[in-house]
Amino acid sequence: MRMTSTRMDLIRPSPASQLRRRVRELHDRGVDVIDLSSGDIGLPTPDHVIDAAVAAARQGDTRYTNVDGAPETKDAVRAQLERQNGLVYDRSEVIVSSGSTQAIAGALMATLEDGDEVIVPVPCWAPYIDQVRLNGGRPVELSCRQNNSLKLRPDELAAAITPRTRWLILNNPVNPTGAVYTLEELAVIARVLLAHPSVWLLCDNLYENIVFDGVTAPCLLEVEPRLKERTLVVSGVAKSYAMMGWRIGYAAGPSALIAEMAKIQSVTTSCASSVSQAAAVAALTGPQDLLAERASALARQRNMLAEDIRECAGLACTPPAGTFYLLASCAGVLGKCDPQGIPVTDDTSFAHYLLQSCGVAVMPGSVCGITPRIRMNFALPPATLRNAGQRLRAACAALK
Ligand code: PMP
Repeated sequence: MRMTSTRMDLIRPSPASQLRRRVRELHDRGVDVIDLSSGDIGLPTPDHVIDAAVAAARQGDTRYTNVDGAPETKDAVRAQLERQNGLVYDRSEVIVSSGSTQAIAGALMATLEDGDEVIVPVPCWAPYIDQVRLNGGRPVELSCRQNNSLKLRPDELAAAITPRTRWLILNNPVNPTGAVYTLEELAVIARVLLAHPSVWLLCDNLYENIVFDGVTAPCLLEVEPRLKERTLVVSGVAKSYAMMGWRIGYAAGPSALIAEMAKIQSVTTSCASSVSQAAAVAALTGPQDLLAERASALARQRNMLAEDIRECAGLACTPPAGTFYLLASCAGVLGKCDPQGIPVTDDTSFAHYLLQSCGVAVMPGSVCGITPRIRMNFALPPATLRNAGQRLRAACAALK
């Protein structure tokens, strides 16, 4: 007899969490590893946010909140959506979740019938695919072209839509490519969606504040408000405010969908942490200057890593417009052999080689749907990044 349901065969553990565990194990064994593979931003949570959490805990703000979030948290989210995107929502149209991961999972669980299709432009954040599968849906992975900056093309979207299509998931800025859709690009995607009234849109804006060189990352609803009645906007505090471990994300959309997502939360996890909600309120309503300050520091780190990567034999990259990931091609190292004579056959074996030979952990592009690439996190202290760059250069030079 099987121990687990057949559904479990459809999904893999999140590649990021597996790598995180492996890197921690190596650390614990005393191995000197520089982790460029994670989705963590290597900056502290701002002090005023931590102070608010401590104060909340001391004041006894330690009970269950409403399942869909405390009214104050919802109001802070509503204010953020209005400030960021000019989008106005009622409290009934907002849900606070344990990370945006939970908000996305809840939306798919609440809406998918077996066999329903969800269009996911790839490369993408890998868990979209598994979440769709876990909920009985069929991910339709739409490969984005290199000559279109790895962004979704409207004609390809139109061709992928069928009567079974329920959702398009649109991530802006995009993990792992760092691409940022402009208003004009979103306007043409919106036009395709307007022609298909049964398709819903999930905008994942988690990296919206991590953009460089004067670029902004708009939400599609800013150009096409008519889609609001079938759009779920998802974001969170994880990346903008360096609050990954606090686990607060949120979604805004039609109240009927939000109510169903709340029903799911009520029977699975209940409310997000009350203390973390207090912290998120401080982040979302406190000083916002830190967003631009942190983004400009990240832009410098991006340039630093990009320079080092360009000096690595066999690697090539274009600095991204947003996120804190640099996606580099490793096509030039494939077929080479390490000093033991073991060949590098793909991005996974290259990532393995880097970890073993120089203690640098990178994410193989294949887990995000793009090969042969490696994704590297540059939200690390400059000295650590430099060290990583030197190690990568030496490791690439050692391949023959
Ligand atoms: N969406 C994207 C594109 C992500 O990269 C991540 C995490 N790295 C998430 C959603 C989930 O983030 P969280 O649950 O921490 O809000």
